[in-house]
Amino acid sequence: MPTDLPLTDAPLFFLDYDGTLAPIVDDPKAAFPHPAVPDLLRHLSEPHPVYIVTGRHLRDLDAFLPGLDLPAIGLHGAQEGTLHGEVQDRLTSDDREKLDAMRTAVPSMEGVWVEDKEHTFAVHYRGAADPEAAAEAVATWAEATPDTLEVISGKDVVELRPAHLHKGTAVQEIAARHPDHTPIYLGDDVTDEDAFEALPDTAITVKVGGGETAARFRLPDVPTVVAYLQRYLD
Ligand SMILES: [Mg+2]
Repeated sequence: MPTDLPLTDAPLFFLDYDGTLAPIVDDPKAAFPHPAVPDLLRHLSEPHPVYIVTGRHLRDLDAFLPGLDLPAIGLHGAQEGTLHGEVQDRLTSDDREKLDAMRTAVPSMEGVWVEDKEHTFAVHYRGAADPEAAAEAVATWAEATPDTLEVISGKDVVELRPAHLHKGTAVQEIAARHPDHTPIYLGDDVTDEDAFEALPDTAITVKVGGGETAARFRLPDVPTVVAYLQRYLD
């Protein structure tokens, strides 16, 4: 896989935050950007569209990028908005209706409880008096999930999520708004693979770090990401 990345005249940047612009640290509240990143983003975003991408809630990134009111994608593609500005979820009215119907149908049973999340909900049954009966009731309930919702099963928990809400659909929509630009996507997460796969073959897709990837190129770490982006300012 080539590491000598091409440059393009009209870039549309999609930049993942953690692990791409900021080194991975144990405490997510201490994930400050690489020291060159704030100025770099400021200068890059003057002539070019720059979107920040994250699995986090967009509000979580405001403190790390003060003064940078950049457009952004949050919650692995479920949110779109602006840092320090408005944030909207990407749920459709159909998503909401189906989630509401499933929420109403959650088995009413001792030990089964619902955790509401930003754009969806999870059904927990950890600690139920009759764990087998609770697991069976939740499994039966989950079988009725419509195809447009994805069922994510964990240990004693089942979460539903609209299947189309991922980074791939988010970047496709944004790229369609910038038809004269070449998308450049840099990311280190498994969920970035949805974006690598969704973007056209002409896009410059870059996996940061090791592991299997659908990206066309690879960079080893945050400093090499910074060095690549700085070439756009030369
Ligand atoms: Mg990341």
